[in-house]
Amino acid sequence: MRAIKQVEGVWRCFICGAESPDQSRPHVGVCACESPQRRGLGDMVSAGLSAIGITPERVSKALGVKDCGCRQRAEALNRLGRKFGIG
Ligand SMILES: [Zn+2]
Repeated sequence: MRAIKQVEGVWRCFICGAESPDQSRPHVGVCACESPQRRGLGDMVSAGLSAIGITPERVSKALGVKDCGCRQRAEALNRLGRKFGIG
């Protein structure tokens, strides 16, 4: 299943924020941003998560880690992402 999320009534890719091409069957298919070797959420932040309202700052706050931009944060994001089936 694609990593997908409904934002303001529109199904979008959870990773890159792109609109699903088929809104009636939004979970079908794979987004262009999803490569066979999928990376963890922390590595995908720069790919546009902030475009759908998931900023590193908000995730860091939710996880209780400091937004220091270090590898620890990326690992924390990767763990959070796996909860949503990403990475
Ligand atoms: Zn995508």
